Amino acid sequence: MKYFVGIDIGSTAIKISVADENKNLVGQKISASGSMFYKYAQETLDLLLKELNIQASDVVYTVSTGYGRKLYKEADENISEITANAIGARAAAKEFGEIKTIINIGGQDSKAISLDIEGNVTNFAMNDRCAAGTGKFLDVVALKLEIGVDELSDYHFKAEGTPLSVSSTCAVFAESEIIGLLGNNHSVADIVCGVHYSIAKRIVKLVKRVGVKEGIYFDGGPALNGGLVSAIENELGHKIFIPEFPQITTSYGAALMGVDSYNYENR
Ligand code: ADP
Repeated sequence: MKYFVGIDIGSTAIKISVADENKNLVGQKISASGSMFYKYAQETLDLLLKELNIQASDVVYTVSTGYGRKLYKEADENISEITANAIGARAAAKEFGEIKTIINIGGQDSKAISLDIEGNVTNFAMNDRCAAGTGKFLDVVALKLEIGVDELSDYHFKAEGTPLSVSSTCAVFAESEIIGLLGNNHSVADIVCGVHYSIAKRIVKLVKRVGVKEGIYFDGGPALNGGLVSAIENELGHKIFIPEFPQITTSYGAALMGVDSYNYENR
């Protein structure tokens, strides 16, 4: 069996997916990007191949993507994360039906991508100028509230009444706003819910820039946060599909691109 590797070197996390020649996802691994992208990407790949019992020589094509994609020199090809995300999203959402709009929230940016019926990217909008509406914002909030990002969802659903208004868009100001809210005796749950709605409002504005088309899909690490998903669905007024492994779909898309490129080169 031949194998295909997709490496997504993001600002916050390195995601690696391995696909077989039938385009099935056979394994995946996530590690922190840290300061040495290349080294950590290589170590993560070695560990993943070992876990999957795959020899490096059986990997016939590697595609890198993401923020640090050019640092991974061993890749046979590197592609933009928008393209990889679009390919991975369509494959990961097969049972959901046609994907027309992708929302991706990463560690340091957020994107809305519009697709045509064939899955080609027709338009995209991106916020990469500040932490507002990104995973970083959630990381700062969780740290201040002394909870893990993986606990945000549970807190969200314990909130009571109308979501609190959290107006700061800058992560630094949000931190002082949160201190103020805690000082006014608001619960951690109410603050988390307010933060999710403030991010959701920004994401909806971003999606509106490319046009809201039914068949809405959400991925990236923050899509693991059910509370945020619920806030975005409420603000958008549409149901959103979340794939089984939302953080790795861009790397899966890169691996799938590898299958096509390899088959094309060896036709
Ligand atoms: P990037 O591609 O920019 O590195 P990711 O798509 O990997 O970004 O997303 C990273 C973000 O995902 C983190 O900043 C964090 O806020 C969020 N995240 C990671 N794991 C979880 C989790 N288990 N639950 C909720 N959020 C998470």
